[in-house]
Amino acid sequence: MMVADTPTTLAEWQALAATLDFETRAFVNGEFVPAMDGSTLTSINPATGETLAQVASCDAPDAEKAIQAARAAFEEGSWSRSDPGKRKQVLLRLADLVDANRHELALLDTLDMGKPISSALGDLSGTIACLRYQAECIDKLYGEVAPTGDGALGLVLHEPIGVVAAIVPWNFPMMMTSWKIAPALAAGNSVILKPSEKSPLSALRLAQLAQEAGIPKGVFQVLPGYGHTVGKALALSMQVDCVAFTGSTAVGKQLMQYAGQSNLKRVFMECGGKSPNIVFADCQHLDAVARSAAEAIFHNQGEVCTAGSRLLVENSIREDFVARVIKAAEQMQPGNPLDPDSFMGAMVDEAQFKRVLDYIRQGVSEGATLKLGGEASNSKGYFLPPTIFDDVTPEMTIGREEIFGPVLSVFGFDTEEQAIGLANDSNYGLAAGVWSQDIDRIMRVSRRLQSGQVYVNNWSGIDQTVPFGGVKQSGNGRDKSLHAQEKYCEVKTVWVSLNI
Ligand code: NAD
Repeated sequence: MMVADTPTTLAEWQALAATLDFETRAFVNGEFVPAMDGSTLTSINPATGETLAQVASCDAPDAEKAIQAARAAFEEGSWSRSDPGKRKQVLLRLADLVDANRHELALLDTLDMGKPISSALGDLSGTIACLRYQAECIDKLYGEVAPTGDGALGLVLHEPIGVVAAIVPWNFPMMMTSWKIAPALAAGNSVILKPSEKSPLSALRLAQLAQEAGIPKGVFQVLPGYGHTVGKALALSMQVDCVAFTGSTAVGKQLMQYAGQSNLKRVFMECGGKSPNIVFADCQHLDAVARSAAEAIFHNQGEVCTAGSRLLVENSIREDFVARVIKAAEQMQPGNPLDPDSFMGAMVDEAQFKRVLDYIRQGVSEGATLKLGGEASNSKGYFLPPTIFDDVTPEMTIGREEIFGPVLSVFGFDTEEQAIGLANDSNYGLAAGVWSQDIDRIMRVSRRLQSGQVYVNNWSGIDQTVPFGGVKQSGNGRDKSLHAQEKYCEVKTVWVSLNI
């Protein structure tokens, strides 16, 4: 499949954006349809505040219709019981189609939620890699034969769970979607995707590509709409067997309640974070480390679950190191998201913009030292600059809560023990960083950090081969790698008596 050359200038991206034709209807049982009650929600471009599209806003009756179609497709078996090689072929074809349309999909995410186009293109690479990896795994995962005595054969089979509702956030719309749907579809489930109400456009384009790739009707469906309407209906349904969720910890807790109130469905959650990035005085290449520390929080406007939002610096180098982080951050000012040179774009919407500004005010009023940024620019659109606070303590709101914006909180420490204590003093446990040249220290600290992933002398170094997820209130279950596909399967034992 031909992939067009990537546009390289703002003007070229603007020209491409002007040609876009948005799909705004839900995708149910193989058809694009409006919400049953005709409701729509408004998708805005946060870089301009302008309306992009009116998108179908689904509710409980739409969920019911999609669930019935998903269940029927699952029982009928043309996907769930198909030859794994067939599912592999179809998903690889979907990956190729996403690849061929990567510019359009990246553009949809940039327009819908404000991330820079360079970053959206990076997300698309991750999306395609995830689809390909999970497709390739389909026919390489074996069941087991249990070590029984001669009189029996114990088979351990992996079977798809059934109907999976994938409920995803807006910060990496395509990539988070792929982390859920690729392994769930690969395992043979029927999947209903509910994109965030703040970023539904790329998911609806993906539905068109899924249809073109040959995924049977009812096996993949997309219901745009709000969480408290269609999301809740999916999570409360007795006919949905699993909710695969990425989003806030507060909503994750609600989903567990819905599971308890209904059919005890499996709920896999990737939730929030307040990740510590620990810099010891023995670490080298301080300018590069400082740049990485700045990128760890300011990438994607700080709207990243694994943002390195707590920077823990050994006091003997703190003043010098923070000055280097500030210097790096000054080069990361937000710009037009369609400009390939912009490192940061716009905040997703007015609510998130105001929420982050409130946190900044709280940081000042609770006594942290504002070293950089802190004020929005006067331009239209929701732009916030890199903001850095020093002298933060764990009692302060900005030292504890997930801000989900470009705000870095710097803490000082004197000993390794103190650094570990500060790092683990959080409800969250998603990511952590350790910067040091001392391998003994690196291993000691890495093992004691309560975190789903630990980055040593880097931040965010991950690919499809390693699992991703959190501990504590950052969630459960793992996306990516073989672990992801396993979680969308039931383990069944078939015990065969041989001496009857
Ligand atoms: P959110 O929790 O508000 O929404 C996430 C999704 O849940 C959306 O589709 C939303 O419509 C839906 N939802 C909301 N209320 C619901 C309800 N009552 N029932 C069913 N569905 C409901 O999160 P967000 O603002 O979209 O995203 C930001 C959050 O996501 C942050 O906390 C961030 O850390 C987290 N996140 C985590 C990861 C990870 O892998 N751990 C990755 C990206 C984002």
